Amino acid sequence: VLTATAVSKAFAGLPAVIDATFVVSQGRTLGIVGESGSGKTTLARMIMGVEQPDQGELHEEPGHRVQLVHQNPLGAFDPRWSIGRSLREALAAGGVPRAQRQRRVEELLGEVDLDPGLAARRPAELSGGQRQRAAIARALAADPDVLVLDEPVSALDPSVRERVLQLLLRLQRERRLTMVFVSHDLDVVRAVADEVLVMQDGRIVEQGSIAEVFDTPRHPFTRELLAANG
Ligand code: ATP
Repeated sequence: VLTATAVSKAFAGLPAVIDATFVVSQGRTLGIVGESGSGKTTLARMIMGVEQPDQGELHEEPGHRVQLVHQNPLGAFDPRWSIGRSLREALAAGGVPRAQRQRRVEELLGEVDLDPGLAARRPAELSGGQRQRAAIARALAADPDVLVLDEPVSALDPSVRERVLQLLLRLQRERRLTMVFVSHDLDVVRAVADEVLVMQDGRIVEQGSIAEVFDTPRHPFTRELLAANG
């Protein structure tokens, strides 16, 4: 569904992603792990289409909709608008007729386990976990085929994190979403991903199934990361 072939990207001559090649199949979750500055976000932004590769090719299934869920859910909302209004605007942008929008807002909130009463609140009036659920609902409003999640649970408390991860797993199953999941947290990636890319200094140093990479790592850097994560 998504293919990257020898993709590279530099900023001001400094390479951020070097020669990345991988495939994500329909309905699968690809985890991208690596230390800060290893190029994870740059790769995610190229998959989103907001950053163009200098070299190589990214091929996505034509017509597929890609949505982003970011570490900071406030970025998904206009702070002046209620959550309901933001969701209605997103539905409008996706061509949902006005008469159906209110019902869809309620369905979307239900899908992410949020009380419909929260639609009246502004983003700042939600808890961190509620806000990230609302941001996921905002992404779902566009009826995406692919979700790119960049550290979606990193800012959340551990108990909240667990519940948002369970939500993402359920959505992935029910909607047959394809997901690209960027995280520096290997436990989180192990919980959600089918395949994983390990990035070091812009390069993919190892890739494979979660079991292959996490249980029998071949690259010294992967072993180091696993050791550092306990
Ligand atoms: P983090 O976990 O800290 O977000 P990351 O693995 O996502 O790190 P990137 O954000 O992709 O890493 O950054 C990779 C490299 O590219 C870094 O050296 C970074 O400074 C550089 N970089 C990323 N975006 C830009 C930009 N817009 N302009 C200049 N340099 C950039």
